[in-house]
Amino acid sequence: MIKTDSQITNEVTADFDRIRRDFPVLDQQVNGHPLVYLDNAASSQMPKPVIERINAYHSKEHSNVHRGIHTLSQKATDAYEEAREQVRTFINAKSKSEVIYTGGTTDSINLVAYSYGRAFFNEGDEVILSELEHHANIVPWQLMRDMTGIKLRVIPITDQGELDMAVYGKLLNERTKMVAVSHISNALGTVNPVEEIIEKAHQYDVPVLLDGAQAAPHIRVDVQQLDCDFYAFSSHKMCGPTGIGILYGKEKYLNQMPPFRGGGEMIDKVTFEETTYDELPHKFEAGTPPIVSGIGLGAAIKYLKEVGMENIAQREHELLEYATEKLLAIDGLKIYGESPNKAAVISFVLDGIHPHDTGTLLNEQGIAIRTGHHCAQTVMQRYDIPATARASIAFYNNEDDIDRLVHGIKEVKEIFG
Ligand code: PMP
Repeated sequence: MIKTDSQITNEVTADFDRIRRDFPVLDQQVNGHPLVYLDNAASSQMPKPVIERINAYHSKEHSNVHRGIHTLSQKATDAYEEAREQVRTFINAKSKSEVIYTGGTTDSINLVAYSYGRAFFNEGDEVILSELEHHANIVPWQLMRDMTGIKLRVIPITDQGELDMAVYGKLLNERTKMVAVSHISNALGTVNPVEEIIEKAHQYDVPVLLDGAQAAPHIRVDVQQLDCDFYAFSSHKMCGPTGIGILYGKEKYLNQMPPFRGGGEMIDKVTFEETTYDELPHKFEAGTPPIVSGIGLGAAIKYLKEVGMENIAQREHELLEYATEKLLAIDGLKIYGESPNKAAVISFVLDGIHPHDTGTLLNEQGIAIRTGHHCAQTVMQRYDIPATARASIAFYNNEDDIDRLVHGIKEVKEIFG
């Protein structure tokens, strides 16, 4: 896990026992055992203030946004736009015009690939990705490749699961039109050296898109400090509802990019001959948006700010260290992703036991982890394995959860003899 100076010197000041009680879903039995939820990289859980905000909206405020003059519509619009302001301050974007609501990280990356790509990519141009990417940051660029004739260049990863930065330096050239990499890998937990990636790309005037799906929920993200050109993330991985995400983009790029989807809400004037578009961010937000999801995301961000991103990063780092030590003590357990700069994601394989069997048997003990390729088949190909089991930790997990996981894995091993 990347630690800033303030994170290193700051002690955890939040009361995580109390915080855990904010998450009602954790207080239940699964298969006769208290639930241990360690699938946070796939989707996180919602605290009471977010659930209550969503209920209040549905009970008292629902209407369509941006179009009605009546009171409910104004209330819904205000709440939806207030949430955008919450997002803006959370990532320290300069202006709300740079904060676009999308359907999620996948949707955000597709928006950039299609809009920027169709406008600016020509045959022979190059886009740099990495071997660590989620499919959401590979497939849209392949679709664009098939449309425009660009070439995809890939930064390889080392055995430890880190980007080979020497190769990156060599891949950048005058033909490079975009660099699109993850901030934190969902499959291995590696925190990529994004500052260096951005700085090098900017030497060639190349914009950088960061897939922040696994970073925004876990570390403080400051898009101005990073100087990234696009940043994509999803609400449902950061204690908010599904169906909404964010694309941050620098105005200088967003202004040049054509709309990705057309329809209501994103227009200024429509005639059969010609349509002019609304200003940012609405130019990219066609149709009725996921209003309640946006308001829920705003509440989730408010909650995360109250807990404190430094506290969250510090707590998750403690739990990662605790878990890594305990898991490595298990005979025959191998962890994939050994970068010293890691987020709280632990991908592992048990010698002679398929990860799906591990996951199934843990589930019987009430322990939820993820098994499979984690939408990162290129990472699995790199290590020549079909799948891993992945435990991903959030700040509302605790040492007991890790102990239950360790105990559960020992039971799995016993069953397999
Ligand atoms: N990128 C990364 C690194 C992810 O972890 C995920 C979700 N697993 C995505 C992209 C896609 O996010 P979503 O499904 O919310 O669009």
